[in-house]
Amino acid sequence: MSENLKIPLVALRDVVIFPHTEIPLTFGRIKSNAAIAAAFKSNKLVCFVCQKNPKTEIPGEADLYDIGTLASIDHLIESNGNIHALVRGVSRVKIEKILQSEPYFVASVLEFPEIIVENDEARALAKHVTEQIQKIFNLGKAIDVMVLMKLLSGVSLDELANQTASFLDLKPADKQKLLEVSSINERLERVAERLSYEIKILELEKNIANKTQARFDKGMKEAILRERLKTIEKELGDLGSEDEDGKEIRELKQKIEKAKMPEIAHKKALEELDRYKKMSPNNPEMGYVKSYLDWLVALPWSVGSPNGVSLEKAKKVLDQDHYGLEKIKERILEYLAVMKLKGKNASGSGPTILCFIGPPGVGKTSIGRSIAQALGRKFVRISLGGIRDEAEIRGHRRTYVGALPGRIIQGMKTAGTNNPVFMLDEIDKIGTDFRGDPSSALLEALDPEQNKEFSDHYLEVPFDLSKVFFIATGNTLDGIPHALRDRMEIIRFPGYTEEEKFNIAEKYLWPKQLEVTGLKDKKLILGKEALKEIINHYTREAGVRDLERNIASVCRKIAKRVAEGKIIEPELTVSRIRRFLGPARYNHTLAEKKDEIGIATGMAWTEVGGEILLIEVALMPGRGALLLTGQLGEVMKESAQAAMTFVKSHYQALGLKENFYKNLDVHIHVPEGAVPKDGPSAGVAMATALVSALTKRPTRRDVAMTGEITLRGRVMEIGGVKEKVLAARRVGIKTVILPKDNRKDLQEIPAEIKKELEFVFIDNLFDGLKVALK
Ligand code: ADP
Repeated sequence: MSENLKIPLVALRDVVIFPHTEIPLTFGRIKSNAAIAAAFKSNKLVCFVCQKNPKTEIPGEADLYDIGTLASIDHLIESNGNIHALVRGVSRVKIEKILQSEPYFVASVLEFPEIIVENDEARALAKHVTEQIQKIFNLGKAIDVMVLMKLLSGVSLDELANQTASFLDLKPADKQKLLEVSSINERLERVAERLSYEIKILELEKNIANKTQARFDKGMKEAILRERLKTIEKELGDLGSEDEDGKEIRELKQKIEKAKMPEIAHKKALEELDRYKKMSPNNPEMGYVKSYLDWLVALPWSVGSPNGVSLEKAKKVLDQDHYGLEKIKERILEYLAVMKLKGKNASGSGPTILCFIGPPGVGKTSIGRSIAQALGRKFVRISLGGIRDEAEIRGHRRTYVGALPGRIIQGMKTAGTNNPVFMLDEIDKIGTDFRGDPSSALLEALDPEQNKEFSDHYLEVPFDLSKVFFIATGNTLDGIPHALRDRMEIIRFPGYTEEEKFNIAEKYLWPKQLEVTGLKDKKLILGKEALKEIINHYTREAGVRDLERNIASVCRKIAKRVAEGKIIEPELTVSRIRRFLGPARYNHTLAEKKDEIGIATGMAWTEVGGEILLIEVALMPGRGALLLTGQLGEVMKESAQAAMTFVKSHYQALGLKENFYKNLDVHIHVPEGAVPKDGPSAGVAMATALVSALTKRPTRRDVAMTGEITLRGRVMEIGGVKEKVLAARRVGIKTVILPKDNRKDLQEIPAEIKKELEFVFIDNLFDGLKVALK
């Protein structure tokens, strides 16, 4: 076929037909249909040529490439104005001239055969391409199976090149370029290159697909389940009523309006709602936006308890719920009075924050609750113990997964009003580390100058805390950062005497536990001696927590018997208490024990109140070493050394030989208590035990002492007198040795204790030794 051929020509938008390939095509353009129909009627031959731009609807001569393919139409079906035809590429042709354009193109074309060189190189290349085809098929490329089988079974070079070129993933323009390559060997090379590239891409995709498959499966599953759930809910619920999503948005909108937020928060809420509305249900961010909105609408922006301070009512509530604590109640009433006055002339920056300091179980929380009740406000409590991260106070930014507002805002949500009594427990246990300083965030929350616009990272909009009544609590002042301490009005809860405990138990704890355990109408009587037994032999504490626990335990045991139908005697005697509570836990008759050499009774002050400290000294043959064991802090170790130096430098006055220590090792031991203690106030007791051991004079066991000593034996003032005296009395001490400068503290001590104990005030150690040593 070397002469020109006049045949119908059809422009193809985005297909390049290669010789040897068979392909089904669909034609819809009028011109194409006419050409196909005409060709099918005559010799079934047609020339296909690709258009340069697939978008051109009615291409002219200039819009077509010059190289096309002669093809035969093997089958033809017409339907709905379209023609579906199975065509087979015969050979490459060059379009010499377009002879007519209407009603369809007729062109004069010239066969334009490719050149083939059959050599070893070509055969090797063919083998390589065949292998590549197998590989790419295995990787999932869609290749007609018939074509594949044919190619794998071995075909001519040009068939291999053309078939492969036709299923490559190439743009029409690139395919056209392949068609225009006149050497089959070169065409095959280019095909091989392209195949390698496609294989690489498929391998990469497979890799990524493997990795993402798991994630995708999960996401897909969730999305499907969510959709299904929605459908089920819809079916179950109000069928055919408004669309669920629309309802949710409308409800959220109502809630936003109802929350009466300040302008800035309101705007933010509406913005987020808008964002939420537009999100697809599969967007994982949707949940975060929803919970953010839920937080915003749940906060008490403008809900408050009625604001009024009635001092009479406050006094009544405080008295009704608490025995004793007169001074504390007085201070609180003063504080409330100031608050009332300040509230009236709205200027001024609100009251400072109350801070209750004292051992556990002395009624700090319970007083806080009563204040709330007296003011008619809500009560919330959060613990700050162990918090090191600023985010705990101020919240995490929303960009964190699982972010939440900080504890202050959480507390406000719990309160549900914007003016609760808000208790911050364990303010002395707050820490600082690399995650920021929680106390500075706390300061912002507490500072009346700043807390009108408290900023929580999660919330992003300021929240007004200025109406909140904050009360902080802690065991000691020591752990509280200075900046915080400056803003607070400290009220100390020193702990209870036995009489106070007795009254608290009788009037409050016992009736409360009877009520809790449902024994109220059983007319049980807790005998005075029995209660004293619990206080003295089952508890040793500054507060009444253990006492309450023991009483609760007794009540539960009785309740169990009642439930079992046993007959209960109404009177609870000492022996029955012992039966209920088991053997006594504390033996308080310390003073009755024998006087011994090398032991002195000190008094310590710890976070949980006063405590008795037995200091032991043992002497061993040695070379003058000082050995310290037990739970001693740094300051206590220094006290021990000071005591030793005092003894060495006053050996004559103490009746000791010069260099008495040369052949001795001195061992000072402080038995471990439950709570670590440190401080200089054990100095007197250490020196006393030391002198007792060295002079072989026994110490009086009913004498307890406290005081810091200097090297010369002067005795210095110490703190925590009331707590220490209470602890001494608890264990049956008769005489208490205190530094002279602490005489003023005696006024804190209840009269009944002053009556029972003898107080000796000293300013030098020798006076103390006279009393303590026999
Ligand atoms: P804190 O907060 O100081 O650790 P709580 O307030 O929890 O102590 O007190 C422990 C228990 O003792 C509570 O049941 C409380 O009601 C009771 N309680 C403490 N002090 C008194 C008191 N003075 N009068 C009546 N009950 C008291």
